[in-house]
Amino acid sequence: MIARPTRRACILGHGITYSRSPLIHNYWIKKYGLDAEYSICDLPEQKLPELLTSIREGSLAGCNVTIPYKQTVVPYLDAVDDTASTTGSVNTIYCRDGVLTGTSTDGAGYIGHLMDSHPAFKLKDASVLILGAGGAARSIADVMVKSGCSGVYIANRTFAKAQEIAGFQPDIIEPLEWSNLSAKAGVADLIINTTSLGMVGKQPLVFPLENTKPDCVISDIVYAPLETRLLAQARKLGRPVLDGLGMLLHQAVPGFRLWFGIEPQVTGELRALIEQDLQSHG
Ligand code: NAP
Repeated sequence: MIARPTRRACILGHGITYSRSPLIHNYWIKKYGLDAEYSICDLPEQKLPELLTSIREGSLAGCNVTIPYKQTVVPYLDAVDDTASTTGSVNTIYCRDGVLTGTSTDGAGYIGHLMDSHPAFKLKDASVLILGAGGAARSIADVMVKSGCSGVYIANRTFAKAQEIAGFQPDIIEPLEWSNLSAKAGVADLIINTTSLGMVGKQPLVFPLENTKPDCVISDIVYAPLETRLLAQARKLGRPVLDGLGMLLHQAVPGFRLWFGIEPQVTGELRALIEQDLQSHG
């Protein structure tokens, strides 16, 4: 009998100081008893074609993509799906029938976490205020529109980036100046911080939460620290909250399924493992 080779996947980036993706995927590999491995591939750009060829040829099942290659990889691929093409950014690569394909799972990860934590929340006809217009905001805005939200407001320091995202769906998305970030606070059903404000080493986000509706879900995609000042203030006011760690876990689900053929579960045990890691590495 010929033994099947160990299936391999990795996170592709450069100057990756630390990534939690190996912890997440290797947890699932062990849990589902797979003969597989997930590692870090820190490569200079000239090595990208070689790595992508190994996915096309099947010696690598696929990869996640992080800084600085989320846009750089696109011209090397045969196809990008609808999500990656709208957002212009790829965080997961896989190969089907010889077609090397890129997708973006941040938006799906965000929704997965929201539905897991607040199953009664209705996105259909909801008003959503997104703070920030970077890569994560693009994916989240896209998925909010596709989920039937009636209004998506995007406030960003660099207004032109908010305007660019509004161009995805001008009937639904409205850009806001950063100086006007709280203009829609009172109408929003969901407020999402997608800026890097509030991260360890950065200024906190200052936002007038007292003007929000009592049942408005306050969400931060920053996960280091786990409890940002925004979330702590929201809790104090009794607002429902959603942290960033769950999105990190849920955005990993589609890649694992595409590479290894199993839909992995985001469990309390996995969350506790990553929380422990966040506490020890910050
Ligand atoms: P990005 O593309 O670099 O975007 C950063 C955003 O933050 C931009 O909108 C930027 O505004 C804004 N910003 C930065 N400094 C600011 C300041 N001093 N005042 C106001 N706005 C400021 O980054 P990203 O990839 O979208 O990631 C953003 C955050 O989300 C990071 O903290 C990242 O760790 C986190 N994240 C979490 C997950 C998860 O799974 N939980 C996934 C992806 C990202 P300008 O456009 O004006 O520069």
